[in-house]
Amino acid sequence: MIDNKLAIHGGDKIIKNPFIKYNSLGSEEVEAAKKVVESGVLSQFIGADDRDFLGGEKVKEFEELCKNYFNVKHVISVNSWTSGLIAAVGAIGIEPGDEVIVPTWTMCACPTSIIHWNAIPVFADIESETFNIDPDSIIKNITHKTKAIMAVDIFGHPSNMNVIREIADKHNLKVISDAAQSPGSKYFNSYTGTLGDIGGYSLNYHKHIHTGEGGILVTNDDLLAEKLRLIRNHGEAAVKGYNIKNIENIIGYNFRLGEIECAIGIEQLKKLKDLVDSRIKIANTITSELNYLDGLQLPIVKENCTHVYYSYSMKINTTEIGVERSQIANALAAEGLEGVAEGYANLHLLPMYQKKIAYGSSGFPWNSEYARKNINYNKGICPVAENLHDNSLLSIEMCMHQLHDHDLELLIKAFKKVWNNLDKLK
Ligand SMILES: *Cc1c(COP(=O)(O)O)cnc(C)c1O
Repeated sequence: MIDNKLAIHGGDKIIKNPFIKYNSLGSEEVEAAKKVVESGVLSQFIGADDRDFLGGEKVKEFEELCKNYFNVKHVISVNSWTSGLIAAVGAIGIEPGDEVIVPTWTMCACPTSIIHWNAIPVFADIESETFNIDPDSIIKNITHKTKAIMAVDIFGHPSNMNVIREIADKHNLKVISDAAQSPGSKYFNSYTGTLGDIGGYSLNYHKHIHTGEGGILVTNDDLLAEKLRLIRNHGEAAVKGYNIKNIENIIGYNFRLGEIECAIGIEQLKKLKDLVDSRIKIANTITSELNYLDGLQLPIVKENCTHVYYSYSMKINTTEIGVERSQIANALAAEGLEGVAEGYANLHLLPMYQKKIAYGSSGFPWNSEYARKNINYNKGICPVAENLHDNSLLSIEMCMHQLHDHDLELLIKAFKKVWNNLDKLK
C-alpha cells in the first residue's frame, strides 16, 4: 500500500535522493577549453586603437556564431550580462538624471546598470499572467525624463515586445531587451533579445547555457554596436581611431570575455536548441499532469511566444483552497523537492531604493540637480507584483535539476500527494 501520509507529518517522502544537478557541459567543452589552454593565449584583447581591440580568435568565432544563430547584425561578447547591461545603458546615450523604466520583477543588475550612469530607475508593475513588464504601467510611468524601457523576459516568457515597441516609438524611447532567462525563446519569428535597440543574454552558471560567467550583447544598429565595443574595452583610449563624433559615455571598462569562455560558449551554443526543447518538453509534462489540481494556475504561454522555463512559475489561489502558500512550499520541501521558491524580486523594496542610498551617503543620484524630484519607490506602486510576491507565486527553479523521466514522475507525484492532503494542511 502506498503511504499517503505527508512527509511533513512523518510519512515517507516521495523523493528519497536529491535530483541530479543540471549540467549543460560535456566532453566537447572540456576539449575546447583544453585546446585554448594549450595555445597559451587565454585572451588577446588590447585596450587601444589596435588590431587586437576586438579580441582573439575564439572571441571572434563565438560572436560570429551568435550572429548567425540569433540572426542579428552585431554581437559583442562581455564578461557578464551585468556588464552587458551597463554597456547598453551607456551606449544609448543616457544623461545623468534620465529615467529608465524597468520591471520590479527582474534581477537587481537591471536597475543598478541604470544607477551606474547616475540615471534613475523607475519601477513598473508586471502583468499577472506572464509576470513581465506591464505596458500600461510603462505608460503611466513615462515622464519628460524617460529615456528608455528595459524589458525583461522573466522566467523565460517573452515580453510583449510589439506593444512595448509601439510605446517606445511614440515617446521616442530606446528599448533594452534583457533575455537572460529566455535564450532560444521566440516572439513571433524572432529570438527574444533581438527585438530591442540593444538586447542580450547571460552566460552565468545558473542559466540555460553558460561559460561560468559571461554575457552576449546583440544589436542591429551600427553606431550602438561601436559604442558597445568601446565601452567594453577601454574606449577612451581607442576612440580616436573610430569615426565617432559624439564621445558621450565612452567611458571604457574591461568587460572583455576570455578565449576559454568563448571556446566553451561555442560548444554551448550548439546545444542550446536541444537543451531548450527538452526543457519545454518537461514543462509541458508538468503542465498536463498538474492541470487539474484545485486552485493552481500553471504557466501561461501567449500566442506566438515560446516559453523556455528558466523557472516554472505558478500561482496558488490560497483563498480557494484555504491553505497558506508557505504550508504548501514546506510540504513539498518535506517530500524532498528542492528548488521550490515563494514569491520573487520586488526590487523597488530593496534598501537601496527605500533609503535612496547608492553613491556615498547623501542620496546621489536621486538628489542631484539633474534628477526629477520625489521619485516614488513606496510599497504600493507595483500592486500586482507585490500581491503575487506576498501571496500566490510559487516557482520550481528549472535550471537546478536535470530531471530525467523518473525524477519528473516523482516531482509530479509530490505535488499530487500534497494536493490530495490539502485538508490536513489547513
Ligand atoms: C542573470 C540575470 C542577469 C545578470 O546576468 P549576469 O551574467 O549574472 O551578470 C540580468 N538580468 C536577468 C533577468 C538575469 O536573470
